[in-house]
Amino acid sequence: MPAQKASNKKASKTSPATYANYINGAWVAAQNGETFANHNPADAREVVGYFPNSTAEDIDAAVAAAADAYPRWRLVPPPKRAEYIFRVGEILIRDKEAISRDMTREMGKVLKETRGDTQEAIDMAYFVAGEGRRLHGQTTTSELTDKFAMTVRDAIGVCGLITPWNFPIAIPSWKILPAILCGNTVVIKPAEDTPLSVYRFVKAFEEAGLPPGVVNMVTGYGETAGAPLVTHPTIRLVSFTGSTQVGRIIATQAADKGKKCSLEMGGKNAILVMDDANLDLAVEGAVWGAFGTAGQRCTAASRLIVHKKVVKKFTQMLVERTKGLRLGNGLDPATDVGPVVNQDQLERVLNYIAIGRTQDKAKLLCGGERITDGDLAHGYFIAPTVFGDVAPNATIAQEEIFGPVTAVIPCQGFEDAIAIANGVGYGLSASIYTGDVNRAFQAMRDLETGICYVNAPTIGAEVHLPFGGVKGTGNGHREGGLQALDIFSEWKTLYVDFSGRLQKAQITD
Ligand code: NAD
Repeated sequence: MPAQKASNKKASKTSPATYANYINGAWVAAQNGETFANHNPADAREVVGYFPNSTAEDIDAAVAAAADAYPRWRLVPPPKRAEYIFRVGEILIRDKEAISRDMTREMGKVLKETRGDTQEAIDMAYFVAGEGRRLHGQTTTSELTDKFAMTVRDAIGVCGLITPWNFPIAIPSWKILPAILCGNTVVIKPAEDTPLSVYRFVKAFEEAGLPPGVVNMVTGYGETAGAPLVTHPTIRLVSFTGSTQVGRIIATQAADKGKKCSLEMGGKNAILVMDDANLDLAVEGAVWGAFGTAGQRCTAASRLIVHKKVVKKFTQMLVERTKGLRLGNGLDPATDVGPVVNQDQLERVLNYIAIGRTQDKAKLLCGGERITDGDLAHGYFIAPTVFGDVAPNATIAQEEIFGPVTAVIPCQGFEDAIAIANGVGYGLSASIYTGDVNRAFQAMRDLETGICYVNAPTIGAEVHLPFGGVKGTGNGHREGGLQALDIFSEWKTLYVDFSGRLQKAQITD
């Protein structure tokens, strides 16, 4: 796609910069010389920068660099690998404000949230760096005398990492950091809406002195840059976060080529509000869960399943709070909710709102439209939207909307709430607000999700705990926590026989 020049005088006094791919420790343009423009969703007239519109030949070069670096990197002792990662964490702390401001400019979420995103990468750097001196395996017994048995983690090889735009630096950190700690080398293809955040992240690796070829970045579109990475014969592992639709394509391609593949995909998360819940707390959690990041979180609370005894009061309180949210540019400290990320996302969310009103016949209680007042006319702003009286099987209660839209679904009681919560094709996150400890534990046991909160919203993951989902959300892997190491390493089992004779396991005569 050819670069376009920004026409907005207000947006930037200097021309937007043109960025490069990072291959083998050098900054290089796409081999076809093309770039694409990265726009600010709060004011689409502003071009944040131009990025290489890369294709298979750039992927080939990046994978070759990673393959060349791999035999040396896998032999660097893990505590030494961890030192680079620790240094990256320190660089991110130093640059946190600048990185976060750039992130808001390229994808719209409010500054306090982009600071949180950067902080998550910092937390991940320190967490993973600590693992450099652990990377524990097991020693165990042998059924034979004078025989020793143990397990160690082995590196896998060159990993292809594909990331979405909603957590522009946090999600790349969940993948790159454990991957390189385990001795792998990587090629990352960031989302086309957020290459600047990953560029800044990769700059930190460069400054930390990471050997060339260990981390490589190639920017571009999914089909032209992402797909060749997935199918490249040298790539041994594909780690993908994004939509279920694309994840399934990648899973099929990876299976066909016999590659290891970890997928983190969509969600349709529910907050359950019981009749004994602290309603003020539940409403506050629902507003943050539904409208944080303009609802563009995989863990967003897009369903609020509320006990019939309190649904009227809860809904009134929720609508009142929602109407008070201020829409605007995320760099403005007064803003509560920023824009959605791009024109396609705007149209997709407005389409779901139309489905909610017509096909689903849900009650539109607030929001429901694009906001074009004043400066907002140049961005992709949708008023935070609440639907009431939504049936559990309505389209807006079943499909991931990924925007500032939530559905209040009345329920008969606890068992009904659990059945409704589980009655979707996804299984990422769920939460329950209740004062009853028994109900809380039953919910933790019965909710079909990878993450479950009690008296807190569906968002708020911490890096040292596993993150991921069941059903249509994932394929059995977890990012974050020590479990992330299981994605990026293979177990090797070692037996040492010090008997000096041939011993045969299982053979008794
Ligand atoms: P997306 O699937 O459109 O794109 C994700 C990435 O895949 C991008 O880098 C894109 O360029 C690339 N891609 C697209 N087509 C490809 C192809 N054919 N081959 C290889 N790569 C391809 O998703 P998105 O719009 O960037 O992100 C939103 C989605 O991500 C939502 O569904 C959300 O729930 C999900 N998500 C999930 C998690 C999680 O941990 N479960 C976290 C964040 C986002």
